[in-house]
Amino acid sequence: MAKTESTPMMVQYQKIKDQYPDAFLFYRLGDFYEMFNEDAIKGSQILELTLTNRSRNADNPVPMCGVPHKAAQNYIDILVDQGYKVAICEQMEDPRLAKGMVKREVIQLVTPGTQVDVGSENAKSNNYLTSVVYDADSNEFAFAYADLSTGELKVAKLTTQAEFVNELVSLQTKEIVVEKDLPATLIDTVKKLGILISNQSDLPVNASVSYLSQDVDDALMKQVLKLLLDYIQATQKRSLQHLKRAVVYEPSDFLELDHNSQYNLELIRNIRTGKKSGTLLWLLDQTKTAMGGRKLKQWIERPLVNRNMINQRHDAVGVLLDHYFERNQLQDELIKVYDLERLAGRIAFGSVNGRDLIQLKTSLEQVPKIKYILEQIADKSFDEMLKNLVPLDDIVEEIDSAIVEEPPISVTDGGVIKDGYNQQLDQYRDATNNGQKWLAELEAKERQVTGINNLKVGFNHVFGYYIEVTKVNLDKIPANRYQRKQTLANAERFSTPELKEKEALILEAQEQSKTLEYKLFVKIRDDIKQSIKRIQDLADAVAAIDVLQSFAAVSEEYRFVRPTLTNKHIVDITDGRHPVVEKVLGHQQYVPNDVNLAEDTSILLITGPNMSGKSTYMRQMALCVIMNQMGCFVPAKKAKLPVFDKIFTRIGAADDLISGQSTFMVEMKEANDAIENATPNSLILFDEIGRGTATYDGMALAQAIIEYVHNNIGAKTLFSTHYHELTALDESLNRLRNVHVGATESNGELVFLHKIQPGPADKSYGIHVAKLAGLPNGLLHRANDILTQLEQQAADDHQTAQTSQETPAELQTSLFPLEQIDDKQAEVVSQLKKLDLMSKTPMQIMNQVYKWQQKI
Ligand code: ADP
Repeated sequence: MAKTESTPMMVQYQKIKDQYPDAFLFYRLGDFYEMFNEDAIKGSQILELTLTNRSRNADNPVPMCGVPHKAAQNYIDILVDQGYKVAICEQMEDPRLAKGMVKREVIQLVTPGTQVDVGSENAKSNNYLTSVVYDADSNEFAFAYADLSTGELKVAKLTTQAEFVNELVSLQTKEIVVEKDLPATLIDTVKKLGILISNQSDLPVNASVSYLSQDVDDALMKQVLKLLLDYIQATQKRSLQHLKRAVVYEPSDFLELDHNSQYNLELIRNIRTGKKSGTLLWLLDQTKTAMGGRKLKQWIERPLVNRNMINQRHDAVGVLLDHYFERNQLQDELIKVYDLERLAGRIAFGSVNGRDLIQLKTSLEQVPKIKYILEQIADKSFDEMLKNLVPLDDIVEEIDSAIVEEPPISVTDGGVIKDGYNQQLDQYRDATNNGQKWLAELEAKERQVTGINNLKVGFNHVFGYYIEVTKVNLDKIPANRYQRKQTLANAERFSTPELKEKEALILEAQEQSKTLEYKLFVKIRDDIKQSIKRIQDLADAVAAIDVLQSFAAVSEEYRFVRPTLTNKHIVDITDGRHPVVEKVLGHQQYVPNDVNLAEDTSILLITGPNMSGKSTYMRQMALCVIMNQMGCFVPAKKAKLPVFDKIFTRIGAADDLISGQSTFMVEMKEANDAIENATPNSLILFDEIGRGTATYDGMALAQAIIEYVHNNIGAKTLFSTHYHELTALDESLNRLRNVHVGATESNGELVFLHKIQPGPADKSYGIHVAKLAGLPNGLLHRANDILTQLEQQAADDHQTAQTSQETPAELQTSLFPLEQIDDKQAEVVSQLKKLDLMSKTPMQIMNQVYKWQQKI
């Protein structure tokens, strides 16, 4: 990098810049933030600013560009949104009073994960900063995350990299703080997700502040919290009083759902558009507050597994559903509640203005009303919430007595504090008002004395108060009294000794009034700061109520019902629907379907033509489970469900965005993930597994997977396939049932019924379609013959396999439609299994392998 000319200022600049090499340094110079060198070149491109040079005539001119400090926030947001960091460097003393170089310091490092001034379009999302540490000895991860705008802080122990990736993806974090010695594979994964990696150790160290110490016992979790909090401290350099105590959570406290499933089921993001529209979140969101919106999103991402908690939410939804009138009242009050969580954050940061306090007041004023409504409903399901719903009358009163109803944005220019709140302030204001009256009188008096009718008394910031006389009237002024101040095109401005004296008094009163107002405002703000915890608890209760009323509202609108939770391994859904597809198609168009998995049924094998609705049926099942465990009602006429611990899905043909692997590889990885981690209490959805490879290959794998799940796991499984051959498995696997999606012919057209029916699909369906398409009769006959032949062959193969089976392990191999293994090969396999590699030299092994080759 071209080091700069060494004026004292550039020396200072460089010294600060060296501490923040990976950030844009916004260096305050008067009314501007300036960027220099590479920052200026890159910054001017991204922000579309004019690039100039400092010391143009020097041998080594310094590229420079700047933004007005009043408009800086926009520019900072643009850079941070694009994944950059911005270090804001301020003048720490008044340049007029400074001796020598003005002292400057970075007062904040804004980064993607610590950005709090989020636009209104993001009101219903969190912005999480995350951190991770890895302990190679125990092979464990500790993971923590915080939302600086709301004060949320959570920490967990994770045991696999997959769990870690799931957390990253579901939190949609933009930035992760890591230690230098993290395994390369981990760093690689994080990079592929497009997450900014930050190193705390690169930043100037601050002493850890004591209130950041959290009561978490585990050493690794402590370490990750310290890492995260140190980074927040080092970047924010301001009060973090609103950060809540760290909550320890375990992924197993919630329904486990990997990131691919979240993605494929379109819970919060539409696969095609990446937006909210067309997702479960979109359908369920009738929340009235930003906090409620964020909580709903969190509940969708983390459905419960605790039966009691699920039941409690169901209870509340049921009660709200029955109380239509009160629910409407509740909604009317909730709409008036602003974002209390983020207001609390801004209060801690000291960045609230008068308008924010009015928002806080208005929000808090709704609390007694909300409380009253819930008390009227008088149901024990609200007891817990009512406990947290404590009206903060003291704060309401304080704001109400002090802050005007429509305060200006600025907190330093006055006009924020009400008359009558402070005696001293009232006096200053009187003085100012009297001054104004005096000025009006002066104007009248001077007009009379001079006879100039359009003589004006005015004010501007540079020249203060003046008497303005137009050029044509200049001969009428009393030259001895009027002193010229300023010349304009058509007029001259004057002062008089009398005006000068009064001006000093008025300006001083105004100045003192503003200073006092600001002091009073800060005092109120600091008072309220003491109540941040109470505001946050209240916000949390209001958010939960908001989500529950939203559940009740959608349950009513879309006719959801309360599911019954069962302890048995039974799924019994009558007339279930996919709520999003139903909404898009219209209720009339959607064909409801039952899902029936009795205690002794583990697998539903679903066959049916393409586009008949297999995948929709499976998604419908998954959404029903997720909605149930979020505490919402479900789209069905009746539903009995167990509490599932995990959901595994292989749906959709999307390549894995993270690993960049092919569809088939992803398919196999996901299948493996399910097989390794599913329990009898899990739900597995496999859509057309094996379709990504050659027919036999794929069918063989599909069958082996079905058998494995059936024999070794017993999880409730929906498996759709176009391999008609697999439907014969119901003969050998007694916990597998065939169902199919019906299609029919009407007036020469193929009509999908979208109706799930018992038994396998019609095998010659393809030939039917060909007939409808008008293919010649002779050809169709021939196709039928071939089909019969193939079926015969398959039946024979099956027979052979059935008779030759000895152990389940061999069954799996022998059922593959590959060549059969002969005795010699079997002997080789058995020797291979027994071979003790460690006790042999490479040469001995080579010899052995050679012998085997000869044998087969
Ligand atoms: P498959 O997985 O069998 O190829 P899909 O599940 O993708 O079929 O469904 C194809 C289309 O059929 C969907 O886009 C939807 O519009 C329609 N569909 C599916 N299920 C139903 C249903 N139960 N009622 C009405 N339309 C449905």
